[in-house]
Amino acid sequence: MEPLELASLISTIIRREVAQAGTLTAYRDPLCRWVTAEAPGFAELRRRLHPAHLMPHDLLPGARSVVSFFLPFAPWVVEANARDRVKVAQEWAVAYVETNSLIGRINARLIESLAEHGIRAAAEPATHNFDPVTLLSRWSHKSVAVIAGLGSFGLHQMVITDAGCAGRFGSLVLDAELPDLTPASRERCLFFHDGSCLECVQRCPVHALDANRPLDKGRCYHHLLTVAAQYQTVGIADVCGKCALGPCSLGSAVEGPATEAMDRGTGV
Ligand code: SF4
Ligand code: SF4
Repeated sequence: MEPLELASLISTIIRREVAQAGTLTAYRDPLCRWVTAEAPGFAELRRRLHPAHLMPHDLLPGARSVVSFFLPFAPWVVEANARDRVKVAQEWAVAYVETNSLIGRINARLIESLAEHGIRAAAEPATHNFDPVTLLSRWSHKSVAVIAGLGSFGLHQMVITDAGCAGRFGSLVLDAELPDLTPASRERCLFFHDGSCLECVQRCPVHALDANRPLDKGRCYHHLLTVAAQYQTVGIADVCGKCALGPCSLGSAVEGPATEAMDRGTGV
């Protein structure tokens, strides 16, 4: 299959699965972008941040491309979670659970459809693929998104895409080539742009964020587990997301030229 045709197939499947999701949660247009499995960012991630992070070929021997996609929540999901400073909205917890499950379905559909074209693909679950002690993921969907140029890390250590950070990421490794994409590195966090925002720091109910030090993962995770106890009815929902409600929630917080659909990575 030609790279362009393959990109179009992947985009179509993601968009169709989201349109037919049948979830309580509503979504905006999904974003999708890809990168070669040989991108230096993967080796760098392992060297600089997490020596045990998987490489694309660990997930799939013969890997050639890595696809990253983002399912952005509808604004009302964000608005619901912004109603209370500490209490996590049911809508947000449900969105987390439903979207993780939707990402699993999208990946299953992609793997199945690509197999019909003789293309092998593999994926890691959307969440809970991390070491409970170090809290490091063996395959970080967020880091993969940054390597693929889908977004950039904000001060809150979430990834801000052109559709914001309120949503969930998935990724897929495949043994076929996709079209080259122009690198689209862009600053989307106001703090890193000109220091004019600290909203995520101010919103964090447990002070896990601080502009002068990395995210206190232990403090954040402890809070998420506390929240999970409240949401046993919707499955494991160790969520919070209060830091994802600022100016980078639904779009880039930094004004800049709108990127074209394919370059922006919508492709869907
Ligand atoms: S809330 Fe402000 S400082 Fe925090 S990540 Fe978003 S833009 Fe950056
Ligand atoms: S998810 Fe919640 S606890 Fe964790 S950093 Fe964000 S606001 Fe703080």
